[in-house]
Amino acid sequence: MYAEIIAIGNELISGSVMDTNSSFLAERLISVGIEVRWMTSVGDNEPDIKESLKSALNRAEVILVTGGLGPTHDDITACVVAKTLKRKLIQNEQALNWIKKLFDSAGLSMPPNNEKQAMIPEGAELIHNPIGTACGFMIRENGRLSFFLPGVPREMVRMTDESVLPILKREKGEGFRFKTETLKVFGLGESRIAELIKDIVERDEGIRIGFLPNFPENYIKITAKGKNDNEVCSKVSEVADEIAKRLGDYVFGKDGQTIEGVVGDLLRSNGDTIALAESCTGGLISRRLTDIPGSSDYLKRAVVAYDNQTKIDLLHVPKRMLDEFGAVSGEVAKKMAEGIREYGKTTLGLGVTGIAGPGGGTPEKPVGLIFISLSDSKETIVKSYNFPGDRAQVRLLTSQSALDLIRRYYLWMDTI
Ligand code: ATP
Ligand code: MG
Repeated sequence: MYAEIIAIGNELISGSVMDTNSSFLAERLISVGIEVRWMTSVGDNEPDIKESLKSALNRAEVILVTGGLGPTHDDITACVVAKTLKRKLIQNEQALNWIKKLFDSAGLSMPPNNEKQAMIPEGAELIHNPIGTACGFMIRENGRLSFFLPGVPREMVRMTDESVLPILKREKGEGFRFKTETLKVFGLGESRIAELIKDIVERDEGIRIGFLPNFPENYIKITAKGKNDNEVCSKVSEVADEIAKRLGDYVFGKDGQTIEGVVGDLLRSNGDTIALAESCTGGLISRRLTDIPGSSDYLKRAVVAYDNQTKIDLLHVPKRMLDEFGAVSGEVAKKMAEGIREYGKTTLGLGVTGIAGPGGGTPEKPVGLIFISLSDSKETIVKSYNFPGDRAQVRLLTSQSALDLIRRYYLWMDTI
């Protein structure tokens, strides 16, 4: 059973409002086993709405339409639906009474414009709007169910949950069940991942595997379709485990997990504290770590040591080292990590230095050259990277790699 979602509104196709209604509706439909195959956005314009409705009625069994049920002249959905289906527009008493009641309870008299909102196509069944004047309606036509809901998101949400989904469950059964798991990967490109799991992707066992690049991370979305919850849950976790095993350490988390959260959990569970000395990232790593509530348990101090004097004064990087190797060097990154660990009185210290660009690069030290160092009481690791991209991308990749280095530090410890 396939569904189509149509979002109506000039504000959507002009780009001034993002169509969040369609995403919401797609998720809700999936939750009752109905798969969305088409999403259409169309302006407040009669011929275009007519054409979209006709094509949806030709191919989808369930159609959900939002927008254009308001009282103003540009809200024309009900009128166009009536014309397209060759039905009359008639006044719905129940709807009119509800709209009047809403105005009465606010101590207002109903403006004549709002009467229009009680006009729905003949034969349509009313979908009650518990919080607004834009009434929704449902139409049955050749075994297809079409629902028309207002564009205002909070009204549309209430009406979907309270009316549309119960009707669909009742009339269409629970259909198939779907379950999705997302694996989050850093450090492997999309095509390399595809190569590594090609045979799993090509197996046809009611599993769909999608790739979602989310720079600088890559997500692998595994969706199982089946007849009951147990079946889809075990199918999805079986395939997710198989893929995770193939990709190994590159998988840092799944579903709602973030790399900041994963790193925070590792620091906390190992009883570690950390201090950061950032140069080219300008505090980005600190910001990302402090995005996690409760991060003060492990993040104790962070310094943006942008100029050489700060590196000397606060982190005790020797001046001769800066003169000899330059601020962007493995030696300086190492001293920064050790210096901040001492200054922060923490168990771990992280130092980052590099050239984010667009200027400042030389043939020996090009834009994108980054050094990241992590120090504990026994040793100091230094890694160098050559990142591609513009300033924002280099900085984001640097912060991500720094977080990943902390994550991998614990993986290495486990294998020692
Ligand atoms: P009313 O006119 O009574 O508000 P309506 O059904 O005519 O109801 P619209 O005028 O189409 O609704 O939209 C009202 C508001 O809801 C818009 O200003 C827009 O911000 C928001 N909206 C409409 N459609 C969407 C959508 N698909 N996704 C997110 N927001 C939307
Ligand atoms: Mg509108």
